Amino acid sequence: MAPAVLSPTPAAPAAPLRGLPSVDAALKAEAGRAALARHGRQAATAAVRAALDERRAALRAGAGAVPAAEEIAAAALARLDAAAVPSLRPVFNLTGTVLHTNLGRAVFAEAAVEAATQAMRSAVALEYDLGGGRRGERDDHIRDLICELTGAEDATLVNNNAAAVLLVLNTLAQGRPAVVSRGELIEIGGAFRMPEIMRRAGAELEEVGTTNRTHARDYREAIRPETGVILKVHTSNYRVEGFTAQVPPRELADIAHAHGVPLVNDLGSGTLADLARYGLVHEPTVREAVAEGADLVTFSGDKLLGGPQAGFIVGRRDLIARLNKNPMKRALRVDKVRLAAIEATLRLYRDPDRLPEQLPTLRFLTRRPDDMAAQAERLAPVLAHLLPGFTVSVAPCRSQIGSGALPLETLPGIALALRARDGSGGAPARLADALRRLPVPVIGRIEDQALLLDLRCLEDEAAFLFSIGALEGTDQMGGAA
Ligand SMILES: *Cc1c(COP(=O)(O)O)cnc(C)c1O
Repeated sequence: MAPAVLSPTPAAPAAPLRGLPSVDAALKAEAGRAALARHGRQAATAAVRAALDERRAALRAGAGAVPAAEEIAAAALARLDAAAVPSLRPVFNLTGTVLHTNLGRAVFAEAAVEAATQAMRSAVALEYDLGGGRRGERDDHIRDLICELTGAEDATLVNNNAAAVLLVLNTLAQGRPAVVSRGELIEIGGAFRMPEIMRRAGAELEEVGTTNRTHARDYREAIRPETGVILKVHTSNYRVEGFTAQVPPRELADIAHAHGVPLVNDLGSGTLADLARYGLVHEPTVREAVAEGADLVTFSGDKLLGGPQAGFIVGRRDLIARLNKNPMKRALRVDKVRLAAIEATLRLYRDPDRLPEQLPTLRFLTRRPDDMAAQAERLAPVLAHLLPGFTVSVAPCRSQIGSGALPLETLPGIALALRARDGSGGAPARLADALRRLPVPVIGRIEDQALLLDLRCLEDEAAFLFSIGALEGTDQMGGAA
């Protein structure tokens, strides 16, 4: 006898409770056997017990009839199957934002996926010099590549760009003033506010200039013998326009060096390739920032660079050596899996001609409107068939890069626009909800009473069709939806 049947019977059970199947009986039912096979004895038994407890409570409250063993087993199996769906799972990013922070930013290049997989499966020479059989450093794997691609003397790698800024400020300006323009005290998505990071790094924030105008003399007057660093921040996600003035980076470097203070340039979405070469708007490259005289440049790995989350710090060898001696570096370092993916991603930049084919971020950004239009024409009839309550039209739209890169530059794209036939204003939101519940969720955006599915990042059309096929027969216009 299963203990569940023996133990939780308090006083004299009401007659129907005695008719409840045993745990054993439920596990022997067809769904019970499936639960055992798929999820193992411990989980299957616990789920059957939980299902029995629920029905027992319902019966005590006078609700429902005594269930058969198969019914209890089916409830347990459904619960186990639902809980087994990974929480972090693939989605179709049809939002039109290529580097969507909430959807994981850059999609890795195939070469990076392979390198990361290999590093997961095997021991790797992470901090081991295969030449001399001695201890090596993890930065050794990317130092030469990143220096070649940026013209910098030396480089190191940390968890993300926020960590890079934290480490740099803590190393160069702990307990000392860090000079920064009031026009660059930015917030990047809630948790990352420049003044906050500076304080947490132990630096004294020394603001200069005004929101819209900062001059060379503002920096000169602020520099004192104890000044630790001059920080320049790329105002990634916003732009000050109109009556503005900033000190050009080269001039700022001259001012810093005349006073013996290092200049740090936080580029944010630093890119390694000139985007203008691919028909996009030019974004300052890391090579340019280095050439303009910054002593250290920090940037992200998963923004325009198109790799995994990481923070790069490149620049003067003596300063990089100081960063590496800071105990904080150990707390911020990257693991072997990401390091492998980063190395493979950086290698792709050696062949800029083929970069748009090989790097998904650039492939999405450079996707031709006629290619997206052809795809839209193929998909529109399928969606129209699945969603009789909606009109499906092929519409021009504007996509964006995301993650604070070129915030005002949008890219001409093509979307499928889904509108309720009856003009119902709530229907697009209900449809968006249904799409988010698909086996592979589809994430679009609502604009102008339409659900827009921006096709810029849709590559696996077959997988998309398979996923939306689950909408067949569901009535997305139903009032109860
Ligand atoms: C995005 C950004 C950061 C933060 O980088 P993460 O890699 O997201 O940590 C810092 N500074 C600037 C200017 C940025 O654009």
